[in-house]
Amino acid sequence: MTADPQMDCRELVERVTEYLDDALAPDDRARLERHLADCPACTRYLEQIRVTIAAAGALRDTDLDERMRTDLGAVFERWRRTR
Ligand SMILES: [Zn+2]
Repeated sequence: MTADPQMDCRELVERVTEYLDDALAPDDRARLERHLADCPACTRYLEQIRVTIAAAGALRDTDLDERMRTDLGAVFERWRRTR
């Protein structure tokens, strides 16, 4: 649907669960991975999420999504502000 080659950090945060779930369209996945290759902040964010998922065990997508936008989103914003 989108032809925008640039994915920004906010979009990555919003879509990272789909990415981890292998639910992104190939184009979006490529955009996300391109952003990751270029953005240490998001690479770190993705690592944090993976750790969180591993620690939380088998969370349902909906639960995870909810937590992502609150807890991890806040952590991410804070981390970027203090760079
Ligand atoms: Zn980023």
